[in-house]
Amino acid sequence: MSIEVDRAACTGCGRCADICPGSLLALDESGAAFIARPERCWGCASCVKECAAQAIALYLGEDIGGLGGRLTVRRDGPLLHWAVRLAGGETKVITVDGRDANRY
Ligand code: SF4
Ligand code: SF4
Repeated sequence: MSIEVDRAACTGCGRCADICPGSLLALDESGAAFIARPERCWGCASCVKECAAQAIALYLGEDIGGLGGRLTVRRDGPLLHWAVRLAGGETKVITVDGRDANRY
């Protein structure tokens, strides 16, 4: 499992590098984020949620039934709008209210 960075969308804020629990992300000489050791990523999605530019997508591989889709998230106050972009081009959006995080 791993992520991919859209270098054109990356603003170079460095927040993903700060939050990755495995210290897997860094900024290159041009100021764009990259993942140095993708094989070590365990898909926690912390960087995906932290990126305000939606420049990081979680790769949804076959091993988890994702069939090559990509997962990004847009924050809107307490709401998280998770967008699943399927390999065929279709996008499905699932909205989660962060205020419900500890409800269950
Ligand atoms: S959080 Fe997003 S915009 Fe900021 S450096 Fe990482 S990929 Fe780029
Ligand atoms: S998904 Fe988690 S482990 Fe993988 S690069 Fe992002 S923050 Fe690091």
